[in-house]
Amino acid sequence: MEEQLIKLTREDPLTGLFNRRYFIESSDRELKLMRRYNKSLSLLTIDIDHFKSINDTFGHNIGDKALIFFTQICSDIVRNIDIVGRMGGEEFTILLIESNLDQASDIAHRILSTLAKKSMLHKDIPSMSASIGVVQIEPKETLQSAMKRADKLLYTAKKNGRSRVCSQ
Ligand code: GH3
Ligand code: MG
Ligand code: MG
Repeated sequence: MEEQLIKLTREDPLTGLFNRRYFIESSDRELKLMRRYNKSLSLLTIDIDHFKSINDTFGHNIGDKALIFFTQICSDIVRNIDIVGRMGGEEFTILLIESNLDQASDIAHRILSTLAKKSMLHKDIPSMSASIGVVQIEPKETLQSAMKRADKLLYTAKKNGRSRVCSQ
């Protein structure tokens, strides 16, 4: 019972991913460790493109399935130690442990190419794309500041035509 309650406060019910609050709590812990051991840490902020029109065209139920499908793709690509959160709606954030900017950009590109390929081949899911902002967290930077920088890059990716990765 207690375990169930804890789960409810940490997990997003649709995808089973960490919710925003628990993503931040867990990532803050990693940030402290990273500092102590001088390790690199990177962050991806992802937003599915034109998700509203997926809902409008195919219905909310297929929209939900598309979110679960996207979650599965991300979980297959990242490692167990990485932290994946659903920040709300069709927005996700991934903290990549011991990863520099190049490695994180690589993962971001792999997510986009896998999403394109698998959603095109899947009979119940519409073709989907996403936009991603990638940053490496600076040694003295707060999580909040890194998330802000990643959000800005995500916005640039959207502005430049979507379905792309912007990193810095
Ligand atoms: P952009 O490419 O600029 O990101 O456009 P967008 O349509 O993806 O963005 P917008 O913010 O306009 O729409 C997001 C949509 O996501 C609107 C909302 O109804 C839908 N949404 C949010 N949460 C859920 C959910 O849990 N399930 C479903 N099916 N839809 C959701
Ligand atoms: Mg959005
Ligand atoms: Mg969107």
